[in-house]
Amino acid sequence: MNAPNDLSAFWMPFTANRQFKAAPRMLTSAEGMFYRTDTDREVLDATAGLWCVNAGHCRPKIVEAVQRQVAELDYAPAFQMGHPKAFELASRLAAIAPEGLDHVFYTNSGSEAVETALKIALAYHKAKGQGGRTRLIGRERGYHGVNFGGISVGGIVNNRRVFGPLVPGVDHLPHTHLPQNAWTRGQPEHGADLADDLERLVALHGAETIAAVIVEPVAGSTGVLLPPKGYLERLREITRKHGILLIFDEVITGFGRVGAPFAADRFGVTPDMITCAKGLTNGTIPMGAVIASSEIHDAFMNGPDHLIELFHGYTYSGTPVACAAGLATLDTYRDEGLFERTQELEDRWADMLHGLRDCRNVIDVRNIGLIGAIELQPMEGQPTKRAFQAFLDAFEKGLMIRTTGDIIAMSPPLIIEQEHIDRIGETLRGVLKALD
Ligand code: PMP
Repeated sequence: MNAPNDLSAFWMPFTANRQFKAAPRMLTSAEGMFYRTDTDREVLDATAGLWCVNAGHCRPKIVEAVQRQVAELDYAPAFQMGHPKAFELASRLAAIAPEGLDHVFYTNSGSEAVETALKIALAYHKAKGQGGRTRLIGRERGYHGVNFGGISVGGIVNNRRVFGPLVPGVDHLPHTHLPQNAWTRGQPEHGADLADDLERLVALHGAETIAAVIVEPVAGSTGVLLPPKGYLERLREITRKHGILLIFDEVITGFGRVGAPFAADRFGVTPDMITCAKGLTNGTIPMGAVIASSEIHDAFMNGPDHLIELFHGYTYSGTPVACAAGLATLDTYRDEGLFERTQELEDRWADMLHGLRDCRNVIDVRNIGLIGAIELQPMEGQPTKRAFQAFLDAFEKGLMIRTTGDIIAMSPPLIIEQEHIDRIGETLRGVLKALD
């Protein structure tokens, strides 16, 4: 029997378990912009958990909505049956989604939203009599969760390496992270033409074999890689020309993160499907969703099977507690004007980040909305070590940041105040100064 405080039983995800368990960092409570640790230290959350707590922690209205729902209707079967909040939340999501994206399919996570969108894409083409469209196209340095479809279209070698052979018929567009775009605020100037690589894949395989292209409008997990000006427009143009579906994975960029409901709004490009999760419930209850176009939905509604249109779903698709959390979260975003607030704060956030440009080892700073990245020169022969040391030091100084490779990434709750921005800047300056 393990003692209650024995750390050995829990196999932690995406964690160097041996290292963590030797020196654990435990969070025990949270409120607003802050976490508290088991040693009763306050930690300023500059990452909104894992890019998800957009309205800040433990917001009373969301907590109460969850508590009320779990006492009133804890669970309802997701198939052949409904409950009012699933319909209400779907309507609310459709209302804030870009025009034409009107139909919501619930999942429990971003990874499941990705799998669902990829499956809808293949089934859609079959429903339209184009069953030869089975190929999927992702992008280098893309992150689309950890299930088989997601790691196949994703472009992170460590997430793929030992799990092959993966989903067949997948290609990757080049990533858009170009050195000549270093130090850019917002969208960079160079690289729109990288979208033209899609024409090469069309010429290589034939448009009639390609189902969908999936990209993150801003790649988050691989280090905040922004779309060059004109790039997403070009992808939209080429996909439309060839009858290929375009999926925006907005698991990070959704719900105000870039100063609009979705990055699709910010960049003025409407895909055929959006995947979302995280900020959908402010991180409280696991939930994801695919928001699909009427064109896609109609293909299933008009298909031959009247009893069931899409053989896909989860026990917890649109579970009442998650829907209650989602509704209270959307209320909070609206009532507090958090998406507009993000827009207003973007410049001050960028000023703080770019103010760190002169720190030793900093080789790039980039930002959009309330997302920011500081890229460090990798340590000779020890890539990732420098940034990970920054993460450890920052945590010791009461600041939560994230790192990926040698990139520090931040995405604070959208309720952030100037004093927090200043504190993040000061703490990071100290941390970077002390690094080797
Ligand atoms: N897609 C993107 C763009 C993400 O950033 C993430 C999570 N960071 C996912 C999918 C996977 O979401 P989840 O961890 O909820 O499965």
